[in-house]
Amino acid sequence: MTKKIDKIVIVGGGSAGWMAAATLIKVFPNKNITLIESPNIPTVGVGESTLGFINSWLKLLEIEDKDFMKITDATYKLSIRFEDFYKKGAGAFHYPFGSTNTDGNVAVLNDWYFKKFLYPETPNSDYADCMCPIMALVNENKIFENSEGVLPNFNFRKDTAYHFNAVKFANWLRTEYAIPRGVKNILAEVKMVDFDDENGINFLQLDNGEKVTADLFIDCTGFKSILLAGALNEPFISMSDILPNNSAWAAQIPYVDKRKEMITYTNCHAINNGWVWTIPLWNRLGTGYVYSDKYISDEDALEEFKQYLRSTGHFDDEMDFNNQGIKFKNIKSRVGIHERIWVKNVAAIGLSAGFIEPLESNGLLSIHEFLMRMIRILGRDSEGYVSQWDIDVYNYACRRYFKAFADFVALHYALSHRDDTPYWRDIGKRDFGSITKKVDTSEVSGFTRAADARMENYGFTGLGGIPFISSGMNYFPTDNNSLYAYNDICKEEWKEKYKLAADNLDKKKAEWKEIVKDCPTMYDYLKEHIHGTD
Ligand code: FAD
Repeated sequence: MTKKIDKIVIVGGGSAGWMAAATLIKVFPNKNITLIESPNIPTVGVGESTLGFINSWLKLLEIEDKDFMKITDATYKLSIRFEDFYKKGAGAFHYPFGSTNTDGNVAVLNDWYFKKFLYPETPNSDYADCMCPIMALVNENKIFENSEGVLPNFNFRKDTAYHFNAVKFANWLRTEYAIPRGVKNILAEVKMVDFDDENGINFLQLDNGEKVTADLFIDCTGFKSILLAGALNEPFISMSDILPNNSAWAAQIPYVDKRKEMITYTNCHAINNGWVWTIPLWNRLGTGYVYSDKYISDEDALEEFKQYLRSTGHFDDEMDFNNQGIKFKNIKSRVGIHERIWVKNVAAIGLSAGFIEPLESNGLLSIHEFLMRMIRILGRDSEGYVSQWDIDVYNYACRRYFKAFADFVALHYALSHRDDTPYWRDIGKRDFGSITKKVDTSEVSGFTRAADARMENYGFTGLGGIPFISSGMNYFPTDNNSLYAYNDICKEEWKEKYKLAADNLDKKKAEWKEIVKDCPTMYDYLKEHIHGTD
């Protein structure tokens, strides 16, 4: 079946719907694109932390920072910080953006392991500090454009992501981008979906009486997934065996000291039954407790979350939450992805396609990354024809991408040695799948890559985020025992080399710190360049 796709109807007006509409109208201005959204069904209302990959998507759409940052209360994000994931009280480490700097290193990324070997008291957070110049900014809570390239490996346009109000971002895309370029917007609820086994969806019946047909329906209806799951009944592959967190309490809280608290990273703090995110926006903090309701009731999780917020100095007592008008929102999620996310004439994007918990900020990531793949499928044929092969390739590529990212997120748990609560003890016993079920080199997951790097290669090279998460969690490819076992490389002269490598790392770290010492803080930079006033 080769089918011409001219008329596209998107159902759902959350981040996924409006990001889809904006992308499609930009790339295919001659297609007929409509977005239907219910004025009564709320959006999920969270999703404030992005990854650097969003910059490629923004570039495609020719959107610049100044276009949306002020209106969405945005700040820049340079890193993600993880606290207490390895063990309670073991401290924190970063996975920063920007590329690593290995100039003058003896053995690329492995130099730091030599340093750790010689000086075992070196904190694990030092790995990122030594490898990534951007950490000089993160540690001092600073930012600058680096237009003269004085800080190596930091490209302001590419290596900064955003913390923003996702609801405001979707609204901005609607009113300032998609509708002005020709997307039609219908405010109505889909009440009935007419479909059959051969064609997929024939038409949507709206509550305003309209019947809507299309060549392609894009399901952006959030966890409801009314078209793909509801009408077409496409099976859902649960990933809750490796990622059991299926619940969250989310809240918006005021700053106590905005200048200090407006940090350059998303903070993720592991606590008894999951972890708490803290996201600095220009006007407030976004925070939430991600947990599994298999281990704690929603009521107890809320109490635990409130206790956490009190411990951070934001609230004195229970009354204080009321006095400050704090609203706590409970969100339940499906963890996993549909077997196929494009079936017949329905393609799902966003929560309706799949979702895993937000550690590593992957929700909006999957939206723009799936859209990038979709436009390649839709743009292959100048007349707009799409074949079953094209759809199969799309399904394969998206599922593979999603699964690889899910494995990467699960690695943050797989490497944990926490055992202070039943939740963490169960993680220590969990079967994480890919490394236990089979030895199959075609299954190159985050787990197998991490396992190979430590057990076989004696080195981490080219593994994306894995070295940062692994090093932070005391999982090194090269450690005392393995180095001693290699007697020949443990001769005294090699120790001299390790010392040179370690000194070189410390020298570079000090240079980077010196370079950023007069840079503005995040608050001062944003005030001057984006927001104007407090
Ligand atoms: P929704 O926002 O739920 O939108 C669904 C839309 O469908 C709404 O407009 C609704 O009105 C419409 N609709 C539903 N039914 C009908 C109907 N019958 N007729 C018409 N319209 C209908 N992502 C990140 O990138 N970073 C993060 O930090 C992050 N944190 C998260 C934290 C939590 C706890 C959760 C659950 C998610 C998080 N995400 C994050 C994911 C992110 O929130 C979502 O990927 C993103 O908001 C996209 O949502 P959506 O548009 O798919 O769904």
